[in-house]
Amino acid sequence: MKKQMLCGFMVLMLLCGCTPKKLEGTVNPHREYGEQQSELSYDEHYVTSLTYPKTDIEELDTAIVESVRHHQDRFLAEVANYKEEAIAEFNVSYQSYIKDDRYISVKLDFYRTIYQTSETVETFVYDAEERKLIDLYDIYEDEALPDLSAFAVSYFQKNFPQECNTQEFKIASAPTIANYNQFVLRKDAIVFYFQEGTLFDRLATLEVPYEQIEDHVDIKEERQVFVAYDQVLNEPVKEIDPNKPMVALTLDDGPSKKYTPIILDTLREYNASATFFVLGSKAESEPELLQRMILEGNEIGNHTYSHKQLTTLSKERIEDEIAHTQEVIYKMTSTYPQMIRPPYGSRNDTVFQCAADKKIVAWTIDTEDWRSQDVQQIVEKVLNEVEDGSIILMHDMYASTAEAVKILVPELQDRGYQLVTVSDLYAYGKNKAGKIMEGK
Ligand SMILES: [Zn+2]
Repeated sequence: MKKQMLCGFMVLMLLCGCTPKKLEGTVNPHREYGEQQSELSYDEHYVTSLTYPKTDIEELDTAIVESVRHHQDRFLAEVANYKEEAIAEFNVSYQSYIKDDRYISVKLDFYRTIYQTSETVETFVYDAEERKLIDLYDIYEDEALPDLSAFAVSYFQKNFPQECNTQEFKIASAPTIANYNQFVLRKDAIVFYFQEGTLFDRLATLEVPYEQIEDHVDIKEERQVFVAYDQVLNEPVKEIDPNKPMVALTLDDGPSKKYTPIILDTLREYNASATFFVLGSKAESEPELLQRMILEGNEIGNHTYSHKQLTTLSKERIEDEIAHTQEVIYKMTSTYPQMIRPPYGSRNDTVFQCAADKKIVAWTIDTEDWRSQDVQQIVEKVLNEVEDGSIILMHDMYASTAEAVKILVPELQDRGYQLVTVSDLYAYGKNKAGKIMEGK
């Protein structure tokens, strides 16, 4: 069976022996290709967070954006009359992979909660040599499908024996291209995805390592590595006067390759600190920025891995969102965050349980920088509301926010405020007992 399964694939690889252009990857093991695009918004009754890649391959980008907008439009149509107390949510996140110099894969994850939660996956595989999006039948011979189906059935029967005796399972695992057409090509394996309500009630994943299929497939391991950051030895000693007022700037949803460095430059110039609540999924791409944050005396907080409303997730998934991000940050900075800010500030008892060993940080001033994207409005909001112990919410995702920070940091210092981290506010008792939990 094993030989047959990849032979179509092998033949194609052999036929196209010319040397293609080298694909430039990133250091993020789950987002190997493309530049991350982010859109965030929240409304009285719903929140949305969209992250998807821009690849500069026109056909691929068009397909990705069309898919995102299609799901977004559907969500907006359905949420239009939604007035329940629980906040509805639409979240798009992605993974992208380079198999070799030929194949780029993108997987979009759509997560939505209106009255119920549902998840969908859409995959795109681009052949850089043929310059087109491909389907499974472009790389897989029809005759090899029964073997793939048999492999899938035996895998799921072994791992989820209770759930494989249904008619749905039988239909969704049958050897047809349609059943196996959601897939990505990683360096080490083909990964297939089965939607909710096909094999099982939930999404299912099947990894088929190439060596499982064909012993002599030559898979190049080209993963880039970054220099490990051993010890935080030269973290600057900051002199904080406990008797003077202090405030904490907090920057969520990054890091961003474009705007975070500008903010870091400003903070360094004025010897000020801030707290960056980073997303694990983005942090993985920016080890240097994370290391810079720590080295320059800032604090990194955990803003979860994929920016979902934690209150809609199971306990295991909340733990996973938090722990995964802790590990990403630790790997890059040798530091575990002590602070966590749940996306949208949404929290319940389960969230408190899962974050029991950390402090949950809300805010006292919401600049709404994502909404106005207006430097003057952001600056005025902060200067009108600021007081000793303020925690200021911003997002290092916009040019306007980076500009506002340039104005705010010296202006706040002129008004006598020290710009400190959230941990500093705690350490000096400036969190005003519970004020830290205020906000939305
Ligand atoms: Zn956020």
